[in-house]
Amino acid sequence: MYDKNNIFAKILRGEIPCDKIYEDKFALAFKDINPQAKIHVLVIPKGAYVDMNDFAANAKSDEIEGLIRALGKVADILGVSTAGYRYLVNNGRDGGQEVPHLHFHIFGGERLGRMIHK
Ligand code: AMP
Repeated sequence: MYDKNNIFAKILRGEIPCDKIYEDKFALAFKDINPQAKIHVLVIPKGAYVDMNDFAANAKSDEIEGLIRALGKVADILGVSTAGYRYLVNNGRDGGQEVPHLHFHIFGGERLGRMIHK
């Protein structure tokens, strides 16, 4: 079940502020409040989707396309497309997801370590 009071739902409703990078019909991108790299931005769908399972199963085609296109646009806006960057989606308990609204992390602006930490 989607929790309408999660922090990203509140950001989408404008109830709490964010440091916005990009917005369109399908997606919102904003700076992570606790950055883990020189560039750390979150890209979220505007629809109410808990996680990737929910989004993959239930999002409409235009929402899926919109989110993927937004991910590419945000990388361009951040100026990391050429140097490279990383997307990360923490999904569910084992994935370490803290906020129950699907979000893609974008990390960049420096050389990143390899893969995962436990
Ligand atoms: P995750 O562990 O993948 O669910 O990541 C949640 C992310 O949301 C963390 O990196 C937090 O620093 C970030 N975060 C939590 N609250 C806010 C907020 N109000 N504005 C921006 N980023 C946030």
